[in-house]
Amino acid sequence: MEISIIGTGYVGLVTGTCFAEVGHQVTCVDCDAAKIELLRSGGIPIYEPGLKELVEKNAAEGRLRFTTSTREGVDASDIIFIAVPTPPLPDGSVDLSFIEGVARDIASAMTGYKIVVDKSTVPVKTGEKVAETIQRYCKARVEFDVVSNPEFLREGFAVEDFMHPDRVVIGVASQRPVKAMQEVFGPYNAPIIVTDIHSAELIKHAANSFLALKISYINAISVVCEATGANVQEVANGIGMDARIGRRFLDAGLGFGGSCFPKDLSAFIKISEQLGYDFRLLREVQRINTEQMERFLKKMADTLWVLKEKKIGVLGLAFKQNTDDVRSSPAIELCQRLLKEGAVLRVYDPKAMEKAKAVLKEATFVADMNAVPDGCDALVVATEWPEFKKLDLERARNVMTHPILFDGRNLFDGREMERHGWIYKSVGR
Ligand code: NAD
Repeated sequence: MEISIIGTGYVGLVTGTCFAEVGHQVTCVDCDAAKIELLRSGGIPIYEPGLKELVEKNAAEGRLRFTTSTREGVDASDIIFIAVPTPPLPDGSVDLSFIEGVARDIASAMTGYKIVVDKSTVPVKTGEKVAETIQRYCKARVEFDVVSNPEFLREGFAVEDFMHPDRVVIGVASQRPVKAMQEVFGPYNAPIIVTDIHSAELIKHAANSFLALKISYINAISVVCEATGANVQEVANGIGMDARIGRRFLDAGLGFGGSCFPKDLSAFIKISEQLGYDFRLLREVQRINTEQMERFLKKMADTLWVLKEKKIGVLGLAFKQNTDDVRSSPAIELCQRLLKEGAVLRVYDPKAMEKAKAVLKEATFVADMNAVPDGCDALVVATEWPEFKKLDLERARNVMTHPILFDGRNLFDGREMERHGWIYKSVGR
């Protein structure tokens, strides 16, 4: 099928590439000319495992191309996916101006029947507004359908998730676009759930809020574990083996972050409020998440006493492993809080150094993980990159003023660390 994607970011580039990989003809559009130029010249603007190879292959085989022109994308395709940002506004509601702008651009370029699919995460009822906008700004009298197709991929596993989804959700207002949408997603051999548009939009916010809730739940359990001497990982394993609960998203730590959970949670709370429901449960999820960071900082201050002028090595800047994305990263927030207290930071991340430099101007970026501890008073693990487990602990112990490790992601074995002379503090253990 001929498909265009408007917005070539984490979601748009992965979507477009994975569509091309199963044989669709794809045009990826972005208003960022530098990004399109980079992609055209064989570069890649984000780190995502396996993505670069797939982009190269599908571009070389002529199924994937890049342009800054929405009109070109609309002309070239029957189905147009919208994958632009839906950032939060200061009051927690969603800034839908990108979606509205794209709907207008699509409308003014349409000359025949198109299926316009919203893949961005949007509040319930946005589909109606998109349809209204297209109707209003369409120059000719053309028919179209608006579809909601929320995206569930995880950064760091985006290609894998897109190619093997648990389910595909398609929200429609009529049967007309269903067959084409089934053809688009048929090659992925996943269950396809067809719903009304409102339900599809709600599924995304309900799913992300539930996952955030799971993280806050285990973080709350970690507080009880610390107060009793229990081990949160053992508790998580014990409850996670219950098939009704599941082990995933039960890792205690610094709390959730990233470009989706915090904003989607705020958005869902706000939408519920506008619909007359005070979603107190989700406000509590937010509160627990905020407190988790405070508790960790307190743990650091209790051990180091004064943070001012303490040299602290930070391992991990991305909001989670396997990505270069630092948007709303708990690791970045932690660094900013430590800098504010007057600490001196030496930081490292396997993939997110470039993106972090823009937001952490006062930190020293260290190119080699094993050089981070040099002269430090303490180390912090802030992102769960598995390679941090390969840190040369023997060397670290010798080059630090004192071997103290704050493990915000429970990567290391506490008993082992203590046996090797470390003062070791983790979360809920
Ligand atoms: P992103 O910022 O990585 O990418 C968005 C892209 O859209 C950018 O490249 C930007 O230049 C482009 N853009 C903005 N306005 C445009 C316009 N008018 N015309 C053409 N291009 C335009 O964002 P993202 O992380 O890909 O998220 C996109 C949407 O998908 C959001 O609604 C997000 O909530 C949702 N989502 C994200 C993830 C994730 O893990 N990142 C997962 C599921 C859903």
